Amino acid sequence: MNAPQPVGRHHELVAPAAWRRIDFISDLHLAEDTPRTFAAWRDYLLGTPADAVMILGDLFEAWVGDDARHEGADAIEARGAAVLKQAAAQRNIAFMVGNRDFLLGHAMLEDCGVTALPDPTVLCAFGERALLTHGDAWCTGDVEYQRIRRVVRDPAWQAQALARPLAERRVIARGLRSESERKAAERQAGPRAEWFDVDTATALEWLTETHSHVLVHGHTHRPATEALAPGLLRHVLSDWDLDAVAASRAQVLRWHAGSWTRLSIAAAVAAVA
Ligand code: MN
Repeated sequence: MNAPQPVGRHHELVAPAAWRRIDFISDLHLAEDTPRTFAAWRDYLLGTPADAVMILGDLFEAWVGDDARHEGADAIEARGAAVLKQAAAQRNIAFMVGNRDFLLGHAMLEDCGVTALPDPTVLCAFGERALLTHGDAWCTGDVEYQRIRRVVRDPAWQAQALARPLAERRVIARGLRSESERKAAERQAGPRAEWFDVDTATALEWLTETHSHVLVHGHTHRPATEALAPGLLRHVLSDWDLDAVAASRAQVLRWHAGSWTRLSIAAAVAAVA
């Protein structure tokens, strides 16, 4: 697969004419304590008949630096890297960072043979243009998060963070995770369950600017397909959670010769004609 090329404020990736199926997944939030989700992801990634799999962010619950993949073969970073490498040897794998794994960098991707997808990227395939984003940058209603995002996406901040010892970064990541779990629990318990969606005006602006008719994003964990405006469609990807006791969820969005389908993991890996 060619590298996405910069065009104005976005990047563009032209799919080879031979591609027949392109899969999209996101928000797997892989961690040490998600063994079922990890196993399902591995089996899917190694078994899908798709020519390419686009991972649109938050593959990992946290990412403390690419050097973590060299620390312990049983750690989630090393196991994740091994699966990506094996899958990328079979088919095209592309990855866009999310708000959890935004520190996942070129060292890791190049090592695994995975193509980096800048956010946003327009994927040109089957004579159409699909706009791909993780989604967090366009949740403009979440003012507090956007303020934090500007800080942590600053290259100087990232260089400083990555210069800290790995053990220290792990402690910080654990702290951030329990803090976000506490906030999520508070939100669920509170009278007004608050969540932020991708801002429609922002999405429409980007679709117009990039001459795209389809938007694909994750992040909100609210899988749905809907018209944002006449002729402009958005597909919100499903998160994957096969470890929760209450409900299990996992879905693949497949772009197949011009049509879009949501598939269970079993259907996504099933033999196709
Ligand atoms: Mn996210």
